Amino acid sequence: MAFSRKQFLKALGLGALASAVPVKWGVASPKMEEARTGAKRMKIRDVDIYYFGIKLNEPFTIAIGTVTSTNGVLIRIHTDSGIVGIGESCPFQPITGETQQTNIAVAQNLRDMLTGKDPLAVESANRLFSPFLHSNPAILAAFDMAFYDILGKVAGLPVFRLLGGDKMTFETDVTTGIDTPENMVKNVKAHIASGFRTQKIKLGKDPDHDVAILQAIRDAIGYDYPIRIDANQGYTVPQAIYALKHMEKFQIQFCEQPVVASDIIGMKQVREESPIPIMGDEALFTPADAIELARAEACDYFNIKLMKAGGITNSLKISLIAEAADIRCMVGCMNETRIALTAAAHVHGAQRNIIYADLDGYVGHTVDPVVDGMTVQNGIVTIPEKPGLGVDIDPAYLKMLRKA
Ligand code: MG
Repeated sequence: MAFSRKQFLKALGLGALASAVPVKWGVASPKMEEARTGAKRMKIRDVDIYYFGIKLNEPFTIAIGTVTSTNGVLIRIHTDSGIVGIGESCPFQPITGETQQTNIAVAQNLRDMLTGKDPLAVESANRLFSPFLHSNPAILAAFDMAFYDILGKVAGLPVFRLLGGDKMTFETDVTTGIDTPENMVKNVKAHIASGFRTQKIKLGKDPDHDVAILQAIRDAIGYDYPIRIDANQGYTVPQAIYALKHMEKFQIQFCEQPVVASDIIGMKQVREESPIPIMGDEALFTPADAIELARAEACDYFNIKLMKAGGITNSLKISLIAEAADIRCMVGCMNETRIALTAAAHVHGAQRNIIYADLDGYVGHTVDPVVDGMTVQNGIVTIPEKPGLGVDIDPAYLKMLRKA
């Protein structure tokens, strides 16, 4: 028996709603129909590519290198309807093997491939991108997030809602880089004073020294603040097992990437002997990596980053693979601005399987040239309730950027 929408709502006891909303299911208003027809005709007119670099307040050190600035690429995809999608790449050479120069070159190739194409066909664009994925994930992320920005603007929905999510706020941690124990304690205290509860500590140089650092931090801040650690591949398998056993007393939530990314068997061995849960990070770029890590039972958690996965599309796929394998996820970042961080926040907001966030890339930037976008207050991220990503670049700042 066929029900009308009105009959169906009445059957549910929602008769008032049925009479309040006279539009029938499947029948679009003239305005929606106009938008739909316009969207069908939409084409990519051009892509602006900019060199995008920001200095850090202080050098930031992790086990595999030190950075003093973030040098990426900003793109703006122009459609013939006037809608513009924005995206940012933040290549981190020690991890993704990309540089600003390689990102610029690939962005120019992608611009040529995409001009005249449908900006709403994100799946088709990702098919086109797939041969570039393994060597160029950060610049693909810039394009993929710009596509979602356009999609959300056409739909009139923030990206996280477009993807069916409803998490508008969540907590992020803040990261302390490797330094002297005294300076690391000082940085952690400063982060707590600025409102962040959960602390992420970069380690991985020397197990005994790292134990001493955590002892100094716990002595200084007590046990009320959650701590997670990241060794960034710095330990051998025996070192990781030794270090993590000696760190159990510090109540560590999890340890990211204790051993070299290519050693999946070694990571599984660490996981089996460690009292602290293990999170895969550098070992996880693509959805295929997620399947491999899940099959190997090599880690307890995944750290999804748009700059490794190639954008929102693959990040969602990884989260769904993880959910099927009963693995919870964190959304993390490189040193990007609040443009790419906002895109990552939408992924978090869209996925219940993502339970942790490490979206502090903007902390430590000498300038924040971003208009709107996600905000962070006392460690709580709020996603903008605007169509698309809800983020833009300051027009005055954009004028100063060099175009490629
Ligand atoms: Mg990490």
